[in-house]
Amino acid sequence: MISTHNPATGQKLADYEELTKDGIEDALVRADTAYRSWRETGLDERCALLEKLAETYEANADRLARMCTKEMGKTLSSATAEVHKCATAFRHFAQEGPAMLDDITWQLGGGGTATGRWLPQGAVLAVMPWNFPYWQAVRFLAPTILAGNVGLLKHASSVQGCGALMEEMMVEAGAPDGLFQNLPIKSDAVADILADRRVVAATLTGSEGAGRAVAEQAGKHLKKVVLELGGSDPFIVMPSADLDDAVEQAVQARIQNTGQSCICGKRMIVHTDIYDSFMAKFTGAMQAVTTGDPYDDATDMGPLSSFEQRETVLDQIAKAQDEGAKLEFGGEALDAGAHAGGAYISAGVLTGIDLDGPMAKEEIFGPIAMVFRAEDIDHAIALANNIPFGLGSAVFTQDEVEQERFIRDIEAGMTAINQMLSSSAEAPFGGIKNSGHGRELAQFGLHTFMNLKTVMRL
Ligand code: NDP
Repeated sequence: MISTHNPATGQKLADYEELTKDGIEDALVRADTAYRSWRETGLDERCALLEKLAETYEANADRLARMCTKEMGKTLSSATAEVHKCATAFRHFAQEGPAMLDDITWQLGGGGTATGRWLPQGAVLAVMPWNFPYWQAVRFLAPTILAGNVGLLKHASSVQGCGALMEEMMVEAGAPDGLFQNLPIKSDAVADILADRRVVAATLTGSEGAGRAVAEQAGKHLKKVVLELGGSDPFIVMPSADLDDAVEQAVQARIQNTGQSCICGKRMIVHTDIYDSFMAKFTGAMQAVTTGDPYDDATDMGPLSSFEQRETVLDQIAKAQDEGAKLEFGGEALDAGAHAGGAYISAGVLTGIDLDGPMAKEEIFGPIAMVFRAEDIDHAIALANNIPFGLGSAVFTQDEVEQERFIRDIEAGMTAINQMLSSSAEAPFGGIKNSGHGRELAQFGLHTFMNLKTVMRL
């Protein structure tokens, strides 16, 4: 049995019967059967389904968003925005995707041509996290449908209701049976599914540990895997930056989704010339963050996604302090009054982090900023790269030479300039180093699990 809980109240929400071995086998048969016919459909039919899915998500936005808020605590307004973002991804692949699948032709030196044809491969298993329960899964689902593949979702245990609703949306949109199935299973069932010949690849978004486990299993069976793991993204502010804007974005980066986003700036690296003024403004804005009822429009931050997640963040703060860091303010469990019974935490700031200690290299998945002082651009880049991760980064500077340095030298899959990093269906998304490998979204995400067949002709 998999149980879900409301992190805003601590109350149990529902029990989900886990799939048995026979149930998993049935799901694999359905997936395989669906694949055999879906692979033969034309792009028109696939695009029509994607358009229908966009409409279905929009029509059910409130219901989907409420389930998300209930299961993982994000504000209802951000959950609603997430659902609409999913609709834009379905539409993007419906409208722009077919051109990404055009044949590619090469003239051969020895005569004749070679043509690259994009073909589907089979069922793709997605192991997904709870922080953006719909968006993370749609990043894989929309291209899967267009590619002619089929999808199997192992969603995080805490958001089983969201997973079930995603399958319901597929049915409502008129998808063929088995094209996308939500599997209510725990992580120990993943290895056998990946080993099955009917599953051709896996994509995982989540922690480094989960990524290593799934990559190992995929490697053992020679299956392709895309990994979107954690990050501790640098957020660099240089003297030429628009300071008010940088502060506003820094706060947003640290509190959106109650700090539980893989690509939000987590380590603020501020040039010494503006460090004091940045800190004065940043401190004021972080202290003004309202934490409370996620259904209330006036709330900036709901609870963390679970009490376990809050324990993890509180332990990390304590660990940083043991290593000599100073907790300037916040970072406290909120348990009284309106916060009673929920996994609430206040936004906080850590300074003086030991650069050689473990905490300087860890991801804090909560609304706690680590702030560092940089002497110059070389120092800022060295601090930015002083982590095993390489997912995203954001740099605030009006100086184009500095911008180019950051683009060239920050070890990350993505760099946002004078804005907070965010994902979008049109642009590739992914990291390097321990943040994983492969890319989602854009044509790269679409092509990832396809067979580029080379066709030789005289
Ligand atoms: P996990 O990485 O454990 O969970 C993500 C998904 O992987 C879930 O579906 C989970 O299933 C599954 N999973 C976990 N372990 C395995 C395994 N050995 N084999 C197969 N599947 C597995 O994230 P947590 O919820 O435990 O969060 C821990 C930390 O991970 C966070 O504090 C954060 O640092 C990071 N994280 C990063 C995310 C990102 O967007 N990059 C998203 C979520 C977390 P189940 O839920 O059943 O355990």
